Amino acid sequence: HPPTTAREGPAAIGLEGVVKTYRSGQETVAAVRGIDLAVHQGEFFSLLGPSGCGKTTTMRMIAGFEEPTSGTVRLAGRDVTGVPPDRRDVNMVFQSYALFPHMSVADNVAFGLRRKNVPKDEVRRRVGEALDLVELSGLHRRRPGRLSGGQQQRVALARALVNRPGALLLDEPLGALDLKLRQAMQIELKRIQREVGITFVYVTHDQSEALTMSDRIAVMNEGVVEQLGPPAQIYERPASRFVAGFIGTSNLLSGTVTTGVGEYARVEFDGIGHVLVRTDQTSGSAVDVTVRPEKVHIGADEPAPGMSRLRGTVGEVVYLGASTHYTVVLANGAEVVVFRQNSSDASNAAERGDQVWLSWRPDHSYALPR
Ligand code: ATP
Repeated sequence: HPPTTAREGPAAIGLEGVVKTYRSGQETVAAVRGIDLAVHQGEFFSLLGPSGCGKTTTMRMIAGFEEPTSGTVRLAGRDVTGVPPDRRDVNMVFQSYALFPHMSVADNVAFGLRRKNVPKDEVRRRVGEALDLVELSGLHRRRPGRLSGGQQQRVALARALVNRPGALLLDEPLGALDLKLRQAMQIELKRIQREVGITFVYVTHDQSEALTMSDRIAVMNEGVVEQLGPPAQIYERPASRFVAGFIGTSNLLSGTVTTGVGEYARVEFDGIGHVLVRTDQTSGSAVDVTVRPEKVHIGADEPAPGMSRLRGTVGEVVYLGASTHYTVVLANGAEVVVFRQNSSDASNAAERGDQVWLSWRPDHSYALPR
């Protein structure tokens, strides 16, 4: 966490038992089925999940554009359920930017301050600061129509930050940009957030985007939060099949716990090998064990004792420059994906059809009960 993130005191944003159902004709759609979460002050927090999981609905309830069917929304400890959007200390940035085309960049940014009758000098100073922050100082006289997509996004951001909201809500703000620009803006957004120290809540369906920028991520699926934690924890230690499948690439191997070996239980794959994993599942339990592709070592030599080990045949080999991706087929038909860095000393790489050993450390696997 950056030093500005405050865990003490009231949460910047608190959701307690929040449910939202929509009526459409005869049908009831449960968009959000019960969310409890607390966003810390100064945190970069992401809501991540596939289309339709309820991210936007959650965001709109924080902003006040929607009211929960039940539950409570708090901002800085205050119950704001039922309070209209303009009386909540939050701003929202949309993917569409929603800039005024007939106004200059500076006037777009100044708009909200002028409406609140902020004195002229202060408006000029704060607009200047906001445009400095997003690195657009030279373009204050331009019309939005004559800016690139990335520059328009910066104007929208400056406009949302100029009145220093308690929290900024961003709904897929980079969705309209091409990949290169989007990646540059991810770093940029994170820098801006760190500089202003304002709580950001960021909605995205793009897992790499959420991993890049967030202090913590709430992974949503079908209206609930499946897992909440820092990026590394979400990535390294997925708590459910859904999270394992949604974040990055994960191998899932279905097996049965046979015996406990020291601190690790052993999941046996007959004639293929075994996986060692820490689990409280008892012998005979059906489990799915996970392992990330970059944790798996592929080679011809028999693995050292104490490692998870599986034998298989190399199928697809995809060379990607910096790395190579292998698909290894086990005798039971299961497939394991392996990512291997192509460092300068990379030698005896495996080829399609080779018999290989796969091995990895026991603490790189997690067992999900089935
Ligand atoms: P996306 O990334 O596609 O925007 P999302 O995760 O933001 O998806 P929501 O927009 O929150 O998901 O929608 C969640 C569910 O609620 C969906 O099934 C959607 O069809 C439904 N829904 C959203 N808004 C309404 C509405 N105004 N009336 C009826 N159903 C709605």
